[in-house]
Amino acid sequence: MNSKRQRGMMSKRSHLVSVVATLVACVATVALAQRDWSKVEVKTVPVAPGIYMLQGAGGNIGLSVGDDGAFVVDDQYAPLTDKIKAAIAAVTPKPIRFVLNTHWHGDHTGGNENLGQAGVLIVAHDNVRTRLAAGLFNEISGRTVAPAPRVALPIVTFTDAVTFHLNGDEIHAFHVPPAHTDGDAVVVFRKADVIHTGDLMFQGGYPVFDVPSGASLSGWIAAIDRVLPFTGPATKIIPGHGELTTPAELRVYRDMLSTVRERVLPLVKAGKSADEVVAAAPLAELDAKWGNGMVKSETFLRGVVAGLSRELGLVAPVASPASAAPPTAPTATPAPTPKP
Ligand SMILES: [Zn+2]
Repeated sequence: MNSKRQRGMMSKRSHLVSVVATLVACVATVALAQRDWSKVEVKTVPVAPGIYMLQGAGGNIGLSVGDDGAFVVDDQYAPLTDKIKAAIAAVTPKPIRFVLNTHWHGDHTGGNENLGQAGVLIVAHDNVRTRLAAGLFNEISGRTVAPAPRVALPIVTFTDAVTFHLNGDEIHAFHVPPAHTDGDAVVVFRKADVIHTGDLMFQGGYPVFDVPSGASLSGWIAAIDRVLPFTGPATKIIPGHGELTTPAELRVYRDMLSTVRERVLPLVKAGKSADEVVAAAPLAELDAKWGNGMVKSETFLRGVVAGLSRELGLVAPVASPASAAPPTAPTATPAPTPKP
């Protein structure tokens, strides 16, 4: 920041960024407090030979089973661990050996503590461990997401990518440019031809745009562009939320985000406030298709405005506990080898 005008905008918009973040966190917290876990059923969806998607509450779980043991992508919430373990035991007699977190959000990492205590090896991007260890304070509700206990933290972390040679497959997890958070990983089951996108995709709706965790709209589009080369015509896509989907739908999702960027960026560049952007209704024609999911249009739009303001340098970068992932460096990590 090197001008008075920028400093003025920075303080105004820094506040906006934290308000958006806490609103998102509030919604999640209220939903969590009201949940009756006993009513949650964990549904097992066969995806490919040896690969399943488990749906309960929270992010979709990916599961690889075979001779070597169970490999799990994300673990929803702690009160569901027993149901998740039962669902896994119903398709394999082998133990759970690894859980890989696609990012640090509690609806994807809530089972870490239970699984860690059971001796499961937790793996994630470096920033997932750092953010879980740091926790988060919510200004509006006054609630704090407490730092995770040590046993819930990833024991193995990676910066760019890691591959598991398990169950006859190559399970390749790679970090993408800052998108939903600055610690996102996508998991490719290369032989099974299945991809778990983490929260890069909220199938059928706008995504949660978590600016304080490093969300970036430009990075998000670049991230999906990194995933698409791994897909073929028969690839199955497990989204972070929603139903099993296809590469074509992932492409549509990317294009939706690109349209959002085209519509909102000029307004942010023109110095419009979040309220003015909302009043201009730049997403009106997209809302019928995308605005009826978990995340409502206005919530998403305010997040996008905050994120683009940061990308443009109108607000200070959100403090990253690792400070290893600049939010505007969508090509900072080397591209993995695409699927032949
Ligand atoms: Zn998430």
